[in-house]
Amino acid sequence: MAEKKIVLSSFISCQDATWRKILAIKNSNKVGNAYIFSGPRGSGKEGIAIKFAQLLNCEANVMDYCQVCPSCKRCDKLEHENIKFIFPLPTSSKNTSDDLSAISTKDAEHVKNAFLKKSKNLFHKIRLPKANKILLQSVRQLRKFLYLTTQSHGRKIVIVFDSHLMSTGQAETANAFLKLLEEPPSNTTFILVTDYPDHLLATMVSRCQKVNFPTLSESYIRSWLMEKKADPISLNLLVAISRGNMQSAEFFLNYKSKDIIELISDLVSKTTRKNPENWRAFINEYSRVAAQDRPKFFYHFMALKVWFLSTSFLKKSIDHPLQNTSLKVNMEKFISEHPESDLAKVVVELEKAENSISLNLNMSLVLVNMLINIQGILKS
Ligand SMILES: [Zn+2]
Repeated sequence: MAEKKIVLSSFISCQDATWRKILAIKNSNKVGNAYIFSGPRGSGKEGIAIKFAQLLNCEANVMDYCQVCPSCKRCDKLEHENIKFIFPLPTSSKNTSDDLSAISTKDAEHVKNAFLKKSKNLFHKIRLPKANKILLQSVRQLRKFLYLTTQSHGRKIVIVFDSHLMSTGQAETANAFLKLLEEPPSNTTFILVTDYPDHLLATMVSRCQKVNFPTLSESYIRSWLMEKKADPISLNLLVAISRGNMQSAEFFLNYKSKDIIELISDLVSKTTRKNPENWRAFINEYSRVAAQDRPKFFYHFMALKVWFLSTSFLKKSIDHPLQNTSLKVNMEKFISEHPESDLAKVVVELEKAENSISLNLNMSLVLVNMLINIQGILKS
């Protein structure tokens, strides 16, 4: 590596320290065969994986990727021939070895649009309806890509988004993938991106180097929201409920603050008041959302968790940004109604329900248990 030229880019600055580690890996010529990028949801792991792939394929002889060479340009468009993306797809009845031809035209169109969006915003999460696992076909196709195609320059990179979803069901996908990790083709790097490293096969984890991502800073989220022209009135509320999760910030970006406050108040009331009719409505709605629109489920639960956290802080007279919104009134009321309850335990219950989603458990049952357990906590 001859000259020392650091090219600044606004995206990698979201994970400054992690990016410096990645640069060190590349510049010491110690690039491994397999990595696990794990850390909280919405912390930029997928985007940094893409930038790592770009770095390893950049044609300029500089410390960081150059942004201007033909390879970098193709990378920016997420159309690089050396980079293969694996991600959850809906299960298909068609028996074909080609994963994309196995999905419907509508889903294929969705994938195309999602990648276009992601190329413009690396925080964008690619999510197809009913795509709850990584398909065996995808790994079979990957095998062909790795063993049957040659590359003229650079390094083949396989980026697996939501890689814990390989372990779903019979784990046949995970086993097929494990074989690839066990006999990695030369000049190839696998990057397994996940919010749930514990759900990966231990045999898989042991073959990978781990890169842990911290939560994004509030100041980064705030500047990002300002750049996206978020309503200044909603800014504090958005920063508070995102809790360093950029996907959540993006999800709520177009909500009016009044609607966010209404949503949270409604969720608090439905999950904490024992009312059979409301409970039934809540269980029906959120088991459906869990199956059809997981991100929505996560962001709604995240907002609810933040409310409980903020309320437990208020109880101890600790400041939290959510207390600077009109939600403070119902926090105070709640505290006076439940003076002895440990609200941190409610947060644990919400997290347990969230984690059940990626384990593909029966969500109606999970939510019933959650509501009963929350009642127990509030009664004590
Ligand atoms: Zn370049």
